[in-house]
Amino acid sequence: MKISIIIPAYNESGNVVPLVNKLNEVLNDYPNRQILFIDDGSTDNSLEILKKLHQKDNRIEYISFSRNFGHQHALRCGIDHADGDCIISLDGDLQHPPELIPDMIKKWQEGYDIVYTQRIEEQGIGIFKKLSSAFFYRLMNYLSDVRIEPGTADFRLLDAQVAHVIRNSHEQGLFVRGFISWMGFKQYKITYRAAPRHSGTSKYSFRKMVSFALNGITSFSIKPLRFSIIAGSIISALAFVYACYAIIVYLFYPEKIVPGWASVLVSVLFIGGIQLLFLGVLGEYLGKLFMQAKQRPGYIIKESSVHAKS
Ligand code: UDP
Ligand code: MG
Repeated sequence: MKISIIIPAYNESGNVVPLVNKLNEVLNDYPNRQILFIDDGSTDNSLEILKKLHQKDNRIEYISFSRNFGHQHALRCGIDHADGDCIISLDGDLQHPPELIPDMIKKWQEGYDIVYTQRIEEQGIGIFKKLSSAFFYRLMNYLSDVRIEPGTADFRLLDAQVAHVIRNSHEQGLFVRGFISWMGFKQYKITYRAAPRHSGTSKYSFRKMVSFALNGITSFSIKPLRFSIIAGSIISALAFVYACYAIIVYLFYPEKIVPGWASVLVSVLFIGGIQLLFLGVLGEYLGKLFMQAKQRPGYIIKESSVHAKS
């Protein structure tokens, strides 16, 4: 039985060594293991540290991207390349407590295919992150057909069979969280308290968070497209009512006619705005089709210890 741990890491040089030490400690009973770091185009010396660790212990492996491709792609790469009987993903900043891993493995041995985790108390997580995360999950669950529980991050165990399904999906920019929930299988939930980041700052900039949320929503739902039909109908109906009113005023109360600057301006701007908004929504889906049609790889590996081995 082999355990694979996969860790996306982007500029986590201060965290790699403490994390590896912690993992070695909690995984003492599982000597047949692989700790695979996916260096997502770090600009600090994370890769050098990983190489040194690999030299000392070849169970610690690394894959390094040619540039920063983003957390979800790094995660996908880890799932693509890990060869354990189960694969556990966690963040590289020690916010996901490695102490939980033995419990996750136990549940897997009891027969669960996916063991996922949910954070319950969020010390060390800023108010903005809390609010934006809560808003995202609400919107996501309202708009899409898959249900994602709040606080379930990418800290989970996957059976090799589940990993195989993910590996074989050709969806570009896979939104792993949604896909897992959509897949089914026998799932078990473990709750935990998130620790504050060990070192460094969050690698999810506001821009990355917005793009993550948009990808999540448009990957699993076509409801936003339907909104344009609804909004369009409502606005046309209102416009029709207003037109009737204008005709009645014109025919029966000509003295009441006022130069309609304001109303014209407001309606033009309003409808223009709505049109732009839904053009954007359309564009988002069209962009997805475009990216999918190109079949471009989600990530590019520059160097790796994994390929060298086989
Ligand atoms: N990460 C990554 N690529 C990125 C951004 C983040 O691989 O472009 C990794 C990061 O190194 C960490 C994990 O994804 O291991 C979660 O990121 P972070 O802790 O910064 O996010 P937060 O906990 O603030 O949501
Ligand atoms: Mg973090």
